[in-house]
Amino acid sequence: MKTRLEFPYIKVYIDNKNKVRYMVHKNQSVKAMLTQESVGNLLIDFALLDLSGYKKRTDTLTKGIPDDFSAEDAVCFSVFSTEVYEIAKLLNDPHTIACMYLLGKLDTVFSADISDTEKITTAVKVLEEVLILQEIFSDGLAMCCDVDFENEGISPSGLFLAFTGKYLDFLGYHLMTGTAIAPTKDGKIDFEMIDKVNSDNITDHKEQLTLIDDVKDNRAKIVTYTALCDFADLLYFEFTELLKQGLQIRKCKLCGKYFVLQSRHKTLFCDRSYAGKRTCKQVGNKLEYDRKVASDPLLQEYERIYKLHHAQLDRDAQKESPAVFGRAKNVFLKWSKQAQKRRKSYLSGKIDAREFQSWMEQL
Ligand SMILES: [Zn+2]
Repeated sequence: MKTRLEFPYIKVYIDNKNKVRYMVHKNQSVKAMLTQESVGNLLIDFALLDLSGYKKRTDTLTKGIPDDFSAEDAVCFSVFSTEVYEIAKLLNDPHTIACMYLLGKLDTVFSADISDTEKITTAVKVLEEVLILQEIFSDGLAMCCDVDFENEGISPSGLFLAFTGKYLDFLGYHLMTGTAIAPTKDGKIDFEMIDKVNSDNITDHKEQLTLIDDVKDNRAKIVTYTALCDFADLLYFEFTELLKQGLQIRKCKLCGKYFVLQSRHKTLFCDRSYAGKRTCKQVGNKLEYDRKVASDPLLQEYERIYKLHHAQLDRDAQKESPAVFGRAKNVFLKWSKQAQKRRKSYLSGKIDAREFQSWMEQL
């Protein structure tokens, strides 16, 4: 009977709006909650990692192990085990969660009741597994989720079959689920409190229910979570959820990195920051628009009129007496709101060029 999860692990909850909450349990005392608007980002961040430095050092370590390797010599064991952990820690900065799982797995290897030689050879395999997982899931993302990848209209379930057919280690792969009691707040599940109420330290159900009563309004719901006990679990969960939810990904047209497409939107840019404070989406949309303006006389005319109105606002605002302060700005905002609405309709094709032009002629 499985009643306790081994550290490190993550309990993941998906609410009815597909928002994802990862309850990260690094060890008994270190816990954190990570909330994401959509599933898939942790997988994408991992697939995008440049692991060349990690690979180089792992390869060097592997080549350094002679066929008749014996780590029973204490110095030799210490040198190899130190290097194993140094390599693992390379992941910490770019992907804290990958690193957390990797260190947890290495700790298990090094505390196992096996010879020192076996510990080192197994640990190296654990390091190599990270590279294999990156290869498998990068391919999976490109093959099954990339909106621009030609997959001949195959359904998500067909794509999933193609993936498991190619990577047999994931054929029949399964994840553990669990049940938790969740306090509610205004009728909604209070995810902030789930962990407190479902602490592994509470074994008495009366105590658990009292805790819910103490913290909330006597209402509790039962929710299920998926337990991610290994890094492969996390990647598999993210990947299959993307497919299950029919979410696709795209390479940002500005930075070239994958991002999850929310709904069926024709978004071309991601939300990562781009050269400073602004995001790819802000910079990219502006560039796209400037490009359109450059080739469209109607948009050029729109921009000219917009600037005229803005200049008028500046003049009127300067002349304003304290009694009517803000009036010019309100007039401008009212006008610009409907002007931008027209422009948006034109750009999205809701109104045609003639209609857009005749609107501008009336101004
Ligand atoms: Zn981007």
